[in-house]
Amino acid sequence: MKSYFSELFTGAWSLIVGLKVTIKALFTPIVTVQYPREKIVVTPNYRGHIDLIKDAETGTHKCITCGSCMRECPSACIIVDGEKREGVKGKYLTTFSLDFTKCSLCGACVEVCPTKALDYSNDYELAGFTRNEFNYDLLKRVEERE
Ligand code: SF4
Ligand code: SF4
Repeated sequence: MKSYFSELFTGAWSLIVGLKVTIKALFTPIVTVQYPREKIVVTPNYRGHIDLIKDAETGTHKCITCGSCMRECPSACIIVDGEKREGVKGKYLTTFSLDFTKCSLCGACVEVCPTKALDYSNDYELAGFTRNEFNYDLLKRVEERE
């Protein structure tokens, strides 16, 4: 009989302890998000793939098609090309692509750029079905960005 009441008490006590944890969690601020319906704001120090910066003054990129980033990249994942155009000083940028499957995010291209035209994007949803999905047209991206 003693053991019956002892077990009853133990069971009731563990129920109370469990409920205490549940009630405490109910009133604790939520730290997770309902991904993918909700998106987080990434920290400014996050390093996504490299991207051309859009200059607020001119509304376009600051790349002068010097090719330093392409030459400096240890993984040979940047292709930069340009052409001479009438009325345009220097070369006009026609291609800026990145093969992100080879990029080690070393940052050498960002560091070497003389016009500070490159930065890291905030993209963190880096999953895909084919390698081609990671070939980024950075010129198109900067032109389409708001
Ligand atoms: S971060 Fe490094 S590896 Fe990636 S594109 Fe730039 S230089 Fe190349
Ligand atoms: S180093 Fe800078 S300016 Fe030169 S091609 Fe690369 S992004 Fe353009």
